[in-house]
Amino acid sequence: MIIVMKADVQPDSPEVQQVVRMAERYPDVRAEVRKIQGATRSLTEVYLLGSTTSIPIEPFQEFPTVEKAIRIRERYRSIGRHEGQSEEVGFEYRGIQFSQDTFHVFPGLCAVDSRENVESMFRLLKERGVRTTRAGAYKPRTSPYDFQGHGEECLPFVFELAGKYDIAVIAMEITRESHVEEIHRQLERAGNPTGVMLQIGTRNAQNFELLKIVGSQTDYPVLFKRGMGITLDESLNACEYIASGGNNKIIVCLRGMKTNFGDPHRNFVDFAHVPVLRRLTRLPVCIDPSHSVGKKVVAPDGLLDIHHATAQGVIAGANMVLVDFHPKPEEALCDGPQALLFDEFDLFMKDVELVRKSYLERVALVEAAK
Ligand code: PEP
Ligand code: MN
Repeated sequence: MIIVMKADVQPDSPEVQQVVRMAERYPDVRAEVRKIQGATRSLTEVYLLGSTTSIPIEPFQEFPTVEKAIRIRERYRSIGRHEGQSEEVGFEYRGIQFSQDTFHVFPGLCAVDSRENVESMFRLLKERGVRTTRAGAYKPRTSPYDFQGHGEECLPFVFELAGKYDIAVIAMEITRESHVEEIHRQLERAGNPTGVMLQIGTRNAQNFELLKIVGSQTDYPVLFKRGMGITLDESLNACEYIASGGNNKIIVCLRGMKTNFGDPHRNFVDFAHVPVLRRLTRLPVCIDPSHSVGKKVVAPDGLLDIHHATAQGVIAGANMVLVDFHPKPEEALCDGPQALLFDEFDLFMKDVELVRKSYLERVALVEAAK
């Protein structure tokens, strides 16, 4: 059950404490207070966890400071969009808002290779006024003989350069608990010049222990990538592991499915699921056209398949785009064939902007027709 407090009721207020006390009078029930950051206002919600089926809803609804009580019947208790929950939720991190109403592009290196390449990437972003990027230090690779990422060793220069070029958030994959500790240590050493969004890669989508680890900390938001060979329901249950641990700063990312039906792309592009995720959850939705398409091929109209796939996700309401760029893709140590070039940056961003604008116009059209 979720008790939604009226606007302006703060999580640490006596009114919320009253609701918590009433909830915890029932046997085997635990109450968890969550602050839900919307695009325009914040809300306090009290989640009743445990054996809640026999708890009556009315006593909670009688509190004058309670807006409504919702009985959760569906799955995805924490991340789900339950009946009557139309309020967009999201979070703020390093001064940037993330919700189903916002839109951000994270262009960057798939993997950190040299300081020089990181610097030229960040310099380009700074010149174009982009403050969000991707940069992998830990790379889970199909072959053990492939480049595994520079690990902690590269973090000092990545963070130093992020500070120098005003990068606010770096999406960075982690594959074990010590990676979170390493990132934390090196960010502190560098004086916290930037923020990190912990990426759970598709290969770890059902690594439940790792999900519990990123879910039990709230220093860093989590970018959860859909599992490449499991159902959407399984991916959302995995995501629920993060939220049920107490971390609600989650973005869910579509990155294509592994199936031969996807040929000749690297994965079967699944961006038609953007509206599905927005309906089933209240999480911001990301798309990763680079890992979905996986190669730079041009359609007869002159646009790259990566552009087309991006447009398909953005026109459907995606809130974030994770996309690979590299100054010299032929020298990249990971995923060079799908990286866009620096002189393709402006075209990509303009195309994205155009499509996002069209999406907003489509929504306005529907609103006007109501
Ligand atoms: C990545 O983003 O670098 C990556 C490895 O993605 P995925 O987990 O989707 O394959
Ligand atoms: Mn990659």
